[in-house]
Amino acid sequence: MGKYSIGIDLGGTKILTALVDKNSGEVLNFVKKKTKKDKGYDKIIKKIINSVSEILNENTVQKHEIDNIGIGVAGQTDRKNGIIINAPNLDFADINIKNILETEFNIPVILGNDVEIATVGEMYFGSGKGEKDYVCVFVGTGIGSGIVQDGKIRYGTTGTAGEIGHIIVDLGGRSCGCGGCGCLEAYASRLAIEKRITGALKKGRKSDIVNYLVEDKPIKTSMIKKALENKDELVTQILNEAAEYLGSGLASIINFYNPSKIILGGGLMNAIDYFYNRTIEIAKIKSLPTPAASIKFEKAKLGDFSGVIGAALLEDYRKNN
Ligand SMILES: [Zn+2]
Repeated sequence: MGKYSIGIDLGGTKILTALVDKNSGEVLNFVKKKTKKDKGYDKIIKKIINSVSEILNENTVQKHEIDNIGIGVAGQTDRKNGIIINAPNLDFADINIKNILETEFNIPVILGNDVEIATVGEMYFGSGKGEKDYVCVFVGTGIGSGIVQDGKIRYGTTGTAGEIGHIIVDLGGRSCGCGGCGCLEAYASRLAIEKRITGALKKGRKSDIVNYLVEDKPIKTSMIKKALENKDELVTQILNEAAEYLGSGLASIINFYNPSKIILGGGLMNAIDYFYNRTIEIAKIKSLPTPAASIKFEKAKLGDFSGVIGAALLEDYRKNN
C-alpha cells in the first residue's frame, strides 16, 4: 500500500473530497461542495472532477504518489465495474463513474457505497478499532448501517445487507421513500425529523425554531440544536419521539445480532448529545437483558470524515478481505 489516496463521499446534500494519508488516517486537505442535484447529474460530475483537480493543484503531494481515488455513493452500485446503477438522491442511473474519473485523471478509481466507506473509515481509524462484531449506524437523509462480523463487512446475498432504515417499526405507519410503510427512516432520519417540525409549524404549533429559519431553506441541524438548548417544547418532543423509534430499531439489532458495539454517526448524532444519549437509553431499556448488559455505544469518532477516510482505504480493505 502506498501512502496517499483521495477519498470522495458523494451524498445527496454535499460532496466531500479529501486527500488522505492512509498510514495515519490523517486528512491532509479537503474540498466540500453542495451537491444540488436539481442542476442535473452532469453538473454533479463536473463538481467531483473540480474537487479532485483542486486537491491535486494544492500540491500537498505529487500526483504520482496518489495510489487511487475511492468514491462512495448513496445508492446501488456495481462495485466490480465502477458503475452507479441507481442513486435516487442524486438522480443518477447507470453512470460509469470509474471510467469518467480514470479518463480524466489517469488514476485508478474504486467505487463503493456511502455506508460501506464510512464503515471502513471507522474500522481503520475510528470507533471500530479493536472490535470484531459491531454495527455502524448512520443517521442522515436516510438511515443506513454497516454490519461487521469477525472484522469483515457483511454485504448479504445481493449486496444490500444493513438496510436498517427499512426495518418496520410501525405496521401500516408513515409512508417511506422505498414504497413501503412504517419504516424506521420515516420516523428517525434527519429528513423525517425536519418534516415533523415543518408539519407542526404549518399546523400552527409554536416553536423557537422559527427564529432561526431562513425562508425556502431547509432546517439545519444547528437550528434544531439551538431550539433544543432553549428548551423548545416542540423540538424536544419531536426529538424524543425520533429517539424512541431509533432506540427501538437499535434494540432489535442488539437482540438479533448481539454486537459488542453500536457506532452512531451522521450530523444529528455528532451534533446533538441529547438525541444520542436518549437513543441509546431507549435501546438499552428495550433490548433483552443479556445482550444489553454487554453492549457498548460510541459516536463515530471520525465524524464527517468517516466516509472520505474510508473511501481512501477502500482499495486496501477490498484487497485484504
Ligand atoms: Zn422503507
